[in-house]
Amino acid sequence: MTKKVFLFDIDGTLLSPGLLPREILGRAFRAIAGGDPGLELEDVAGLTDPLIITNGLKKLGIGDGNLTELGTAVLDYYLTTMRKEYPRSTRPVLHTDAVQLLNAVDAHGHCPALLTGNVSSGARIKLDYFHMARRFKFGAYGDDSADRADLPAIARQRAEEFLGHRLTNADLVIIGDTAHDARVASTCGCRSVIVGRQPQWRPAIAAAGADLIVDTLDEVERIFSVVNAGTA
Ligand SMILES: [Mg+2]
Repeated sequence: MTKKVFLFDIDGTLLSPGLLPREILGRAFRAIAGGDPGLELEDVAGLTDPLIITNGLKKLGIGDGNLTELGTAVLDYYLTTMRKEYPRSTRPVLHTDAVQLLNAVDAHGHCPALLTGNVSSGARIKLDYFHMARRFKFGAYGDDSADRADLPAIARQRAEEFLGHRLTNADLVIIGDTAHDARVASTCGCRSVIVGRQPQWRPAIAAAGADLIVDTLDEVERIFSVVNAGTA
C-alpha cells in the first residue's frame, strides 16, 4: 500500500477554537483600522488568515486587495493578543474523532501533517492548547500563501524533504471541513475527506468535488478505503 501524506486542517476539523479568535480579530481591526468588519463564521471558515484580514479591511473600505501594512499590523495585534488570552480560554474543543483518525494515520505508517489557513504561529497557539503540535511532521500555513490553493504544492515540497523521496499530488490527502478544502483538493489533484460538522455546508462541499464526506472522522476504515482506491 502506498504511504500517503494526510494534511489536516485545524479549525473545524481538528478542533473548534471557540469564538475568542474571531473576537480578538474584531478587537484588532478596531484598534488598528478604526472599525470592526463584523466577521461571521462564513467570512473566516476555510480561508487563510491574510485573506480574512484583507477581506475585513475591504469591508471597512480600506486596502487594495493586498495584505497592506495595516493588514500586517492587524495580524500582529491578533497574534500578540492570542498568545496572551487563548491559553486561558475555556472554550476550545478538541475533536476526538480527528484524533482517532490521526492515531490510525500513525498506526498505518502514513505521514501526518498540517494544511491550514492559520499563520504558523497562530496554528501553534491553537495546537499547543491541546499539546497537539508534536503530532504533525510539518505544515503548510497561511503565511506561506494567502491563497489556500497554493498550499498543497508547498506541503508536497516539505513532504518530499521530510520523506526523502518524490511524491505526486495524488499522494496527498486533505482532511478538512469546508467546501474550500474540497475545492483546493480537486483543483490540485489531491484526495479529500471532508467532515460535515456544519450540515448546511454539505451541498457546497459535495459540489466542490469532495472524494468522501463523513459525519465523523473516526470512520477510519471507510476513509482508508477511499484514500487507497486505485493505488497499489
Ligand atoms: Mg476548517
